[in-house]
Amino acid sequence: MSKYKAVIGLEMHCELKSNSKVFSEGKNTYNEIPNSNVNPVDMAFPGTLPVLNKKSVYQAILMALVLNCKVPSYLYFDRKNYYYPDLPKGFQITQMHAPIGTNGYLIIDTDKGEKKVLIHDIHLEEDTASLDHYSDASLINYNRAGVPLLELVTEPCLASAEEAVAFLEEMRRIYQYCDVSEADTKKGQIRCDVNVSIMDQDAQELGTKVEVKNVNTIANVFETINYEIKRQTELKEAGRYDEVKQETRRFDEETGTTIKMRDKQDAIDYKYFVEPNIPKYKIAEEWLSTIQNSIPNLPRDRKKEYINEYGLSEYDANIIIKDKDYANYFEECVKIGIVPKTAANWLTVSIIGYLNKEDCQIKDFYLTPVLLSQIITAINDSTISTKQAKEIFNKSLTELKEPNTYINKDNAQINDKKELEEIIITILNNNPSQIEAYKNGRSNLFDYFVGQVMKETKGKANPNLTKEILKEKL
Ligand code: ADP
Ligand code: MG
Repeated sequence: MSKYKAVIGLEMHCELKSNSKVFSEGKNTYNEIPNSNVNPVDMAFPGTLPVLNKKSVYQAILMALVLNCKVPSYLYFDRKNYYYPDLPKGFQITQMHAPIGTNGYLIIDTDKGEKKVLIHDIHLEEDTASLDHYSDASLINYNRAGVPLLELVTEPCLASAEEAVAFLEEMRRIYQYCDVSEADTKKGQIRCDVNVSIMDQDAQELGTKVEVKNVNTIANVFETINYEIKRQTELKEAGRYDEVKQETRRFDEETGTTIKMRDKQDAIDYKYFVEPNIPKYKIAEEWLSTIQNSIPNLPRDRKKEYINEYGLSEYDANIIIKDKDYANYFEECVKIGIVPKTAANWLTVSIIGYLNKEDCQIKDFYLTPVLLSQIITAINDSTISTKQAKEIFNKSLTELKEPNTYINKDNAQINDKKELEEIIITILNNNPSQIEAYKNGRSNLFDYFVGQVMKETKGKANPNLTKEILKEKL
């Protein structure tokens, strides 16, 4: 065991789904032509006033409740004043004095069991514009300015990179299951500030924290934490812990290291004050309970249900809850009567395998649960073998025809003993010399007979039944 322990606190930003931006009518879309979707309000043109998006507030409260936070009786915003090229207004509208949620927690599963992650607060704000840096210039794209952003701040309560990643993965799933965000890191919808410190195992006080800003993938959060733990530990071991400064750093993807940006002494004074252009808004108790009641079944609850009620392995359950659409597909299968374990097998092996190979989404997957059930029913009533099922699965996906097209008497597996016996007797009658040789000790001729039966039936004979009958007759 190391002499030191690590302490990590996360600030996770997540862009919310909505039609319009959080304070204007500007569209909230991804991937448009730069600066084609800019609204005067988000540019702070003189005479414009912000108008709060109710849907963003709804989503923010939903997440606050999911995270077991206290929601204030009044909603209002604050101005955070600073100058930066990506901030057209010269201030960001955010929540400092009364965040939409405070003092919450979330229970997650880690490799070492359950962990209660403490949430300091969650607040609603506007995203900044985005900057693209080139060797000789930087370009500003204002499309992102004003996109609704939720910032979640944990207490310094995480103990390892693994725990931090487990928390972020769980949060990402929750955002998706609650349908408040795609939470796609590739679209920059999730960005994290990662705070790391180390301390002696038995120390009472936290060590000096370093803040690594704007880490843009979960994998990079993992790297950042481990790099910082290593860097700080080495300095401490060398008696140079005073060199661990409360500072802001950034993660450098190319080298996998963190690089200093600025000292805490250089911290900006944001001169927060209550945003005067958005009136205080009373959050009605009724609205709160409506939102509380609309919280969907969350991934961790679904996982428990899959394991305890449907008898799935934890491994399979974890694969299925990874994606809300996998979970919905699975539940739809169960709803139409497919045995849960059978559904899980098809989903986790053949279907997800196919989706990965073809790089496609389960939403666009041709074999809906109802179509899949055609194959499963045919296996269950022994119309087809599992080998044939695989073939029909593939054929159906290639030709986009429903499985029943291929499941018919013509290619049905022959399971009827009488029918098989007749075929086998004919074959035996036609091969007297082979029978002779077999009886004289050439036992490998047994496979020859099996082969003849398969040839005659074009592979449709039930193999076990064939062997059984052959043993009898020979
Ligand atoms: P600041 O004043 O720098 O904003 P806060 O106390 O508001 O610091 O915390 C910001 C983030 O840093 C939170 O996520 C918190 O959990 C984390 N944090 C605070 N102290 C530490 C520490 N000693 N080690 C690691 N993380 C910390
Ligand atoms: Mg702070």
